[in-house]
Amino acid sequence: MPAPVRIRFAPSPTGFLHLGGARTALFAWAYARHFQGTFVLRIEDTDRERSTQVATQAILDSMAWLGLDYDEGPFYQMERMPRYREVVADMLARGLAYRCYMSTEELDALREAQMARGEKPRYDGRWRPENAAGKAPPAGVVPVIRFRNPDSGTVAWDDRVKGRIEFANTELDDLVIARPDGTPTYNFCVVVDDIDMRITHVIRGDDHVNNTPRQINIFRALGYEPPVFAHVPTVLGEDGQKLSKRHGAVSVTEYDVAGYLPEAMINFLARLGWAHGNDEVFSPQEFCDWFDLDAISPSPSRFNTDKLRWLNQEHMKRLPSEELGWRLLPFLEKEGLDVATGPTPGAVAELFRERVATLIEMAQAARFFYTDITPDAALVAEQIQPANRAALDELHKVFETLPWNRESLNAALKNAAQRHGLKPPQIMMPIRALVAGTLSTPAIDAVLTLLGREKTRARMQRPGSEVVD
Ligand code: GLU
Repeated sequence: MPAPVRIRFAPSPTGFLHLGGARTALFAWAYARHFQGTFVLRIEDTDRERSTQVATQAILDSMAWLGLDYDEGPFYQMERMPRYREVVADMLARGLAYRCYMSTEELDALREAQMARGEKPRYDGRWRPENAAGKAPPAGVVPVIRFRNPDSGTVAWDDRVKGRIEFANTELDDLVIARPDGTPTYNFCVVVDDIDMRITHVIRGDDHVNNTPRQINIFRALGYEPPVFAHVPTVLGEDGQKLSKRHGAVSVTEYDVAGYLPEAMINFLARLGWAHGNDEVFSPQEFCDWFDLDAISPSPSRFNTDKLRWLNQEHMKRLPSEELGWRLLPFLEKEGLDVATGPTPGAVAELFRERVATLIEMAQAARFFYTDITPDAALVAEQIQPANRAALDELHKVFETLPWNRESLNAALKNAAQRHGLKPPQIMMPIRALVAGTLSTPAIDAVLTLLGREKTRARMQRPGSEVVD
């Protein structure tokens, strides 16, 4: 039986969780869920200058909103310093690493000389134990610790997204694993963590492909086989350029604020570079059931606002009205509306779910149920003519006692139109203008049913809607 899957998401808290990061988290999470594995959250906060508590919180909030629950962690690398120091000491003792006393000036000079010769700048191994034998460490220089990378051969892995990737060891420097002040470096901490956390699969952005051979060499030096790697391609903006603020390089939580459902966001992120046949609309559970690494595309995917909006509407249609109403409620409140003064959010959601793409749009479209609107005078003047004003006056009376439901309203509207020699829209449009301030509303009988008798009648006789000959 294969070892149980253990997978981690390891964000650096140097900014919010943007779409690319969220997609990486989603793929890792779904892989763990698909194989009933363990999803570990690790916060890689060793870059003390750029890591912030605010960013950590933003990452946790984004994951919570998307429903990406983790089984272990969050583990903070800053809390694991003693462990990294212990491994550095062990590697020194075993000859896997060594102290390098090269000063920054010397390193710069070496680089310049190499570049002048047209060579790629790289450390020349001068403090490797075999080269430093008998050399006294210079006074006053605090050494860095370097990993002794193999000199020859290749380091290769079968990337689950990109296929076989191979690097020659001669391309790789002896990596600094601890700085002069003793703080361990990024590539080293990742390996220690992945070993200690018994990680079996690493899914991460392909900006890490160049780190992977270095990490694999450290794994092997420490006596461990590296995990399976899957490097996922970048998410590009709509224009095929790197994501910018304009299109998606914003925090995932901004999509929450903008009225998107987390299940739609998951669906959208999942389709950025992954596909399951022709399935376009699916639930987080279906995604977990279907997800595997083989179906990830090796080429970059593009963000697409229209698709996100379409998916959001599809997911709004799928939710039971009452549930959608609960999701809508905070957006009505943010519009400053008192929900107690109008229909239940569930009823509103039922009415609008086919017509709008986001919860904000739904809340805005539903404003007139909770607060009176002032219809545009030009719209009213255009819609109200002597013939339909008379029909509206008659309806105003009829509405006083009419049983207040869709059928009777529908029948009353059609009757009034017929009696006055009008087509039904010639009555329905002016009523829309008067009660909702717009001609584009859902079915008018449904709107009036929800709006209620009193508000309907009061708005039908608004000042300014009289016909002036
Ligand atoms: N902390 C790295 C990042 O945010 C991820 C490292 C990894 O997954 O190995 O890009």
